[in-house]
Amino acid sequence: MPSSNVFMAYHDHCHILKEPYMSHFEHLRSHAIPALQATMEEYVAPASGARHIHLTTTGADMAFLVGFPTVPDASDGRAHILEHLALCGSQRYPVRDPFFAMLRRSTATFMNAFTYADRTVYPFVSTDENDFYNLLDVYLDAAFFPKLDYLNFLQEGWRYTLTDGVLGYQGVVFNEMKGAFADPGHALYKGLTSTILSGTTYEVDSGGDPLAIPELTHQMLKDFHASHYHPSQAVFMTAGPLPAAAVQARIAERVLARQIDASTRRVPQLASAFAAPQRNTVRIPSQQGRDNEFGLQMTWLMGESAIPKVAFEASLLSAGLLGDAAAPLMKAMETAGYGRPSGFNGHDDSARQMLFHVGMEGLTEAQAPLAEALIWSTLEQVAEQGVEHATLQAALRDLKYQQRNTRSGSMPNVLERLLVALPVAMRDGDVVTAFDSDAILQAMESDIADPAYFKSLVRNLLSSPGRLVSTIVPDAAYFSDRDAVESARLAQASARLTDADRARIAADTVALEAHQKTAFDTQVLPRIRPGDVSTQPRALPAFAPAADDIHAFSIGSNGISSASIVYDVSAIPAADWPWLALYTQLRDDLGLEGQDYAEAGAWRQRMVPSFGFDLQPFQMPDGALRIDLTVSANALREEHANIVAVLDAYMARPRFDEAVRLRYLLERKVENTLDDLAQAGSHYASMAVSAPLAQVRRFQDAIAGPTALAFNARLKTLAATPEGVAQVAAELARIHAAIVARRPSILCAGSGDDGHDLARLLAAAWPTSGTTTGAAVAPGASSEAAPQAPANVALHAAGQVNHCNIAWAVPMSHDDDAGALSVAAELFTNQVLHTALREAGGAYGGSASYAGDSGVFLMASFRDPRLAATYRDFDAAVDTILASDYSDEQVEEAIIGVIKKLDKPEAPWDAVRLGWRMFRRGTDMATRERFRQGVLGCTQAQVKAVVQKYLKNGTASRAAFAGNTEQDLGGLAVLDLSVLAGA
Ligand SMILES: [Zn+2]
Repeated sequence: MPSSNVFMAYHDHCHILKEPYMSHFEHLRSHAIPALQATMEEYVAPASGARHIHLTTTGADMAFLVGFPTVPDASDGRAHILEHLALCGSQRYPVRDPFFAMLRRSTATFMNAFTYADRTVYPFVSTDENDFYNLLDVYLDAAFFPKLDYLNFLQEGWRYTLTDGVLGYQGVVFNEMKGAFADPGHALYKGLTSTILSGTTYEVDSGGDPLAIPELTHQMLKDFHASHYHPSQAVFMTAGPLPAAAVQARIAERVLARQIDASTRRVPQLASAFAAPQRNTVRIPSQQGRDNEFGLQMTWLMGESAIPKVAFEASLLSAGLLGDAAAPLMKAMETAGYGRPSGFNGHDDSARQMLFHVGMEGLTEAQAPLAEALIWSTLEQVAEQGVEHATLQAALRDLKYQQRNTRSGSMPNVLERLLVALPVAMRDGDVVTAFDSDAILQAMESDIADPAYFKSLVRNLLSSPGRLVSTIVPDAAYFSDRDAVESARLAQASARLTDADRARIAADTVALEAHQKTAFDTQVLPRIRPGDVSTQPRALPAFAPAADDIHAFSIGSNGISSASIVYDVSAIPAADWPWLALYTQLRDDLGLEGQDYAEAGAWRQRMVPSFGFDLQPFQMPDGALRIDLTVSANALREEHANIVAVLDAYMARPRFDEAVRLRYLLERKVENTLDDLAQAGSHYASMAVSAPLAQVRRFQDAIAGPTALAFNARLKTLAATPEGVAQVAAELARIHAAIVARRPSILCAGSGDDGHDLARLLAAAWPTSGTTTGAAVAPGASSEAAPQAPANVALHAAGQVNHCNIAWAVPMSHDDDAGALSVAAELFTNQVLHTALREAGGAYGGSASYAGDSGVFLMASFRDPRLAATYRDFDAAVDTILASDYSDEQVEEAIIGVIKKLDKPEAPWDAVRLGWRMFRRGTDMATRERFRQGVLGCTQAQVKAVVQKYLKNGTASRAAFAGNTEQDLGGLAVLDLSVLAGA
């Protein structure tokens, strides 16, 4: 039943469109993109200058975004805090948090908002037409007519708190950015851009520096909205099977009819060119301030990133100099005998002007000048000798592949395309070139045919005065210094406080608490109900047992073909899991029989655009563990023979005897793990809390959790001696032999008959040395479930925030209680945790989740200023759910929250891989239907019954990441991550 009034309003627009004054948008041009089976349409509203770019596509996803250029000139976080506040209530929807309310009332497959350095974007994606227009109304009102309430500013931005008379800071963005500052990369990047892009908006931190955020006032924020969020500044983008006119009619009625005056469009400033190259020093946070944590970065300022020629030449430079292990700069840095290439290498289009980064990390102070000389002399050499034509050809092929690729990363593919095109439109580029690169790629084919061409690109780097050389210095006092500045400011502010100030802070606190407790009538918001969604699970590619274990599918892939060779490695014993993981991580960086690692890397790069190994563990309904090791390649349909050759080479011709290379790779892995301890704190805590509760989590902990850190320490010792490196090589060879002893399963897919053709080629070429097929598995040591004690641990590395986790063992998704458990998780998040942990507690995130594939129920906070108090809130949450009486609307919202996750569309090849995992686990359509019915029919009584049975009466496992150990740790035992990892 079309339930919402919005559905009616959609029909109103057919009427409105007949009124001449309402035809706000003019069609500028259309452009067909055959490679994507799509057409781009561009429109402008002449009165205001608002732009609309629409991509007609045939997939299920309907995507919308509105973007505004936001160009702050201070690091007080105004653009970021405004992004949060816009989602906290608007004129038509004057409830406290319409964004979070819609998260639970909509079947959207993606909803978010992003603050970039020079723009703010509000995107969503839905596969349901009613839902799309519901969300469109909410997003338009949020962006153009937000309430920007003072109390929400205190909650989301920053506020003073008085605890027993002591002054402190609190606020969601304030804490979110403290978490962001834990990343050494954040400090490094700001250190580079603030100098090379000095005098522009890129000089400041658009997310907000927690030391500067308290300079922002509520009035400054409102002024920023008025000057930046206006139709004259807006770029609307849509994609999907939608009529552009219907979206435009809605924009016209909701926004343009009320705001028609035009003002000049904001474009971020251009940095002024350096007269001569410059140098600076950048301090980055370090856990211990070890003597090998120095770095050297060179950054070049190039042309405007919205100009296709600039963008493509920059990607050619990246590919030619750094693209694979044989590329000259990559090879020089990896074989220097000291340090390793930094995480900031290659071209960077995040600012209006393209940047190009080359640098090394893991250096001693004395090695930094050596690194600079090495980079420089290598560039001089390439300017003389050039690079091979085949390398540049592969780079152009990769660009063509990326343009056609339908796979989704963290967001739906169509939205990714819009987000890539948006900055081009905002920086006054030609947006067609962002969607369709065929013409420029053709032109570049002839450019690269001239051997002088690439050399001249490199010579331009050498001769450019727009160059910054940065020395990166580790600073073990980075956090304590920042804490000291913060404390000093608070002490200063505290000394100045009058009685009236103190009374105002106390009154604000009381008012905010009351505001957070006020129940708003959410009826004003549209919603999707359980009766509006399909009773059937989404269809997936159907697998059936096959004697030859070859499975081929026809998918809509824009002419990209994919293949996976899948080995069942479940029989590999638990003691070998870390070696299995190491094998998976290192193989594509090692050589092949007859080719050293650099030759093999360059060859593979020329053969296929995408290749990799991965490990996929999964837990059977009886709790037993299964593990797949997969090697995959994806390429254009004309490269089938290359796919076969590469897969065959990597499984039939491995080599593990390159000791120097192996030692380098081990050291890189060890050091990267040590550098990322605080940054990965939330990850480690979530691994530690659930490892004792499920086999699959125990495996993940062993290969990537705190348990794996002990293996990291062991690798560090082994890498230090030739005998140790030889031992690692022998272990990897042993693992390889165990893997290929089994006959693999083959998965293929492509457009039309391509998947079947590719499968035939693979079947003909594949060595059939193994004897057992993957489908019949003898239970290995890995399926023995040893009961483990729940965790009770505070994992520690230096940082400014905590991440808290609590978990319980519960049944898996085939159980009759699974539906109620999944609904319970949504109810916890919506009704208890979001309010207690984020709104009141100041954490960036607070939520519960049910993992049916492992049987773990989890509550977690993210970037949390509190620890012991958060654990008290977790415990109280269980009692609150049991004691409260929730409305039908609240239970239905929780049900919709589960359904939308189930119904998220997968890219075609990802759907094949998902279908395979379901097949391996024996999850058939009947099981999926039963679970879905359990969700759709779930009652409040069922939710309370499972919460009582598994949470209240169960035993909780607790693991937190603690940024410092001086705070109240609520009885958790401290485990130092650095010590564990062998720092
Ligand atoms: Zn944020």
